[in-house]
Amino acid sequence: MAMGDQDPIGQVGEWSLIQALFSRGCPIDTLRVGIGDDAAILAGEGDKDWAATVDTLTEGIHALPGCDPEAFAWKSVAVNISDLAAMGAEPRHALLAAFLPPDMSRGRTEALATGLHAAFSHWGVALVGGDTSATPGPLALSLTLLGRVERGKALLRSGAQPGDWIYVTGTLGDSAAGLALLADPPTEWLGAYDQLVERHRQPRPPLAFGQALSELASAAIDVSDGLVTDLGRIATASGVGIKLEPRAIPLSAALGEWGWASGVELLDYALSGGEDFELAFAVAPEGIEALHRLQYQTDTRCTPIGRVVRERAGEVFAAEGRRLRGGYDHFSPSRERS
Ligand code: ADP
Ligand code: MG
Repeated sequence: MAMGDQDPIGQVGEWSLIQALFSRGCPIDTLRVGIGDDAAILAGEGDKDWAATVDTLTEGIHALPGCDPEAFAWKSVAVNISDLAAMGAEPRHALLAAFLPPDMSRGRTEALATGLHAAFSHWGVALVGGDTSATPGPLALSLTLLGRVERGKALLRSGAQPGDWIYVTGTLGDSAAGLALLADPPTEWLGAYDQLVERHRQPRPPLAFGQALSELASAAIDVSDGLVTDLGRIATASGVGIKLEPRAIPLSAALGEWGWASGVELLDYALSGGEDFELAFAVAPEGIEALHRLQYQTDTRCTPIGRVVRERAGEVFAAEGRRLRGGYDHFSPSRERS
């Protein structure tokens, strides 16, 4: 979208903004994969490269104001782990920029540190540096994560081929349902409440599975902004279309219980609810048998939900032909599903 100097940036879409302002190439010989994937790939020593990613969590945008700082901190690590899982990389080092409101209590700050260190030790990451700044705004944590990946083995968004199957790990929609429950607590007892809220507050990306997948998948992405949006990124990067079977999308029993109790359309949550931090990936038919073994070895549920096709490049569409849209964009007019 063309913009005037005085126009607010909240209209343009996040990716347009990144491309217009930050995507001015600066070729350098140690760069293997630059802007546009879940992490950048940088040349390392021997047969290993580095994957580098950064994500920021802001109270009031990525979590409700007054959120539990321990869970907030855990999640700031988990969202970065998810990007490394999507590259098939092994997390090693972290740098943390902490933006702390000076009126934040000592107790909340300690809870923040507890959550951070729990996540770092869970995923075997060493915090090696960072920056701490007071802020007049809300609490924010910006975490940079570096991980190792075997040269030439990083999982990119760009390798999907016509004929590949599209799979997703775990189940989708729980996190968005958990957020809806936190924002508007149910008046009646709901058995699924804890599970859905937990999936929103403390995601656990399938890291070991992502690392092993680098031998098998032709393309991968983490489902952070909603399935359709994220598969759209594989479709665009690979120059292919993705034909989805929405009814095949795996839903948890907890989501089913909430849907039954609240009457919401569950498929909307599964297609465009964000922050599932599962992996969506493409596998050639010859790789399916090995994928079944990997599922078993890593105890990771994987469900086929569609096929990669030559036609309609860049689009995600339902089997009967309808184009699917969805997902969250920080810089689109409604700030939500588009
Ligand atoms: P993800 O959801 O996987 O974290 P994003 O959608 O946030 O990825 O970003 C898309 C791509 O744009 C990524 O490759 C990311 O590194 C890059 N990117 C995002 N913001 C900036 C920025 N301000 N400067 C340079 N690159 C950016
Ligand atoms: Mg990502």
